[in-house]
Amino acid sequence: MRPGRGAAARGGGWRRGPVAGAAVLALLTVSAASPAVGRAAAGPDGGAGAPVRDVILLVGDGMGESEITAARNHGPGAGGRLAMDTLAVNGSSLTYAVDERGRPVYVTDSAAGATAWATGHKTVNGRVSKSPDTDRPLPTLLELARDHGYATGSVTTASVADATPAALTAHVTDRSCKGPADMAACPSDTRAAGGAGSIAEQTVAARPDVLLGGGAEVFAQTVTDGPYRGRSVLEQARASGYRVVRDRAELRSARPGEPVLGLFAQDYLPVERVGPRAVVGGTAPARCAGNPDRPPGTPTLEESTRAALELLGAGRGRDGKGGGKGFLLQVEGASIDDRAHDADPCGQIGETLAFDRAVRAALDHAARNPRTLVVVTADHGHAGQVLPADARPPGLSATLVTDEGGLMRLGYASGPVDDYQEHTGIPVRVAAQGPLADRVRGLNENTALFDTVRTALRLR
Ligand SMILES: [Zn+2]
Repeated sequence: MRPGRGAAARGGGWRRGPVAGAAVLALLTVSAASPAVGRAAAGPDGGAGAPVRDVILLVGDGMGESEITAARNHGPGAGGRLAMDTLAVNGSSLTYAVDERGRPVYVTDSAAGATAWATGHKTVNGRVSKSPDTDRPLPTLLELARDHGYATGSVTTASVADATPAALTAHVTDRSCKGPADMAACPSDTRAAGGAGSIAEQTVAARPDVLLGGGAEVFAQTVTDGPYRGRSVLEQARASGYRVVRDRAELRSARPGEPVLGLFAQDYLPVERVGPRAVVGGTAPARCAGNPDRPPGTPTLEESTRAALELLGAGRGRDGKGGGKGFLLQVEGASIDDRAHDADPCGQIGETLAFDRAVRAALDHAARNPRTLVVVTADHGHAGQVLPADARPPGLSATLVTDEGGLMRLGYASGPVDDYQEHTGIPVRVAAQGPLADRVRGLNENTALFDTVRTALRLR
């Protein structure tokens, strides 16, 4: 089957909206993705009769079943369960990307992966929410949700201008175009060429209510064209009404009704766990340890997720039954991927367990707010494999002592022994709970999540 055919067949058209400077997009015509769901409910905005009020999409970057298994073995144990293992419904999604002509590319990067669920279209690797052939902006779930009156949020352990969060808030030819000084690979997106600018500038203009992660270095860059010329992207954010917070204490001071931009690191947030890197011939058995270089004021992904849920869900009271619009929140555990690239098993496992605590926070919200759809997935698989403890692989491996006292050997063999380990092209888990969770059952394209969320929030 031709990749992305389902999305193309929906017949949606788009055009640039009237708001200057930002790539504001509006769907002109779309047929209903699922005729059976949501038709009887009141209003297009998730009103009282809508089956879903809140959508929480949690993405473990590079979190294939192998990475989930390593974290489960290390933490709750081989027979234990992670929070992400407890969701009611499981399916999986095909992760391949496409080339400019629509032909499959079997291993995706995070930009094309996130674009798939953010827009319902597969694209070329490296591209952020733009089409594979014509390089035109595609409307995103966050833009559609915002335009329908939902609160929106994005939380990550990477830079907020990194590919996965960017797919919701920006449209650029290449993911490297994070700030105004990084536009070499995106000539048509520059403001000088009439484009909407860098990822950071577009993200501020998209104006999610909650934006938490790293990336301070990008926001310190100077805007080169347009109304904010000569000012930093951070000043653009403040002028747009954002409260900027830098650590846990400042995050706690954020109040609903005032958009908040959390920049907790220059780029990626520091990881939670450290330990031996995998080496040729393997390591001696070792325990993972807490990261001594993690500044104590840095919020964990769980803390940022709980803060985002509180801010976005404000006004409902403790029982969750008060008024207030619904919301769309994406949460990304980014460094599962980053640490796997470096064959760093403790870093990878620590970040997977930290991500799982964010999943727990989302499930806690769902327990108080039954009209919440929680989806946990990944963009692609990664290099790590759980090997027999006495295996003798020719490449990189490390042996960890798990919390239950077992010996777990992890091998990495998708890249050179002294360099970057590559993603893998496997399907990934899609777990869901709440109204419409059944839609993730079976084997689906990664673009199907777009339709699921759009149907849940009844976005046209
Ligand atoms: Zn990666």
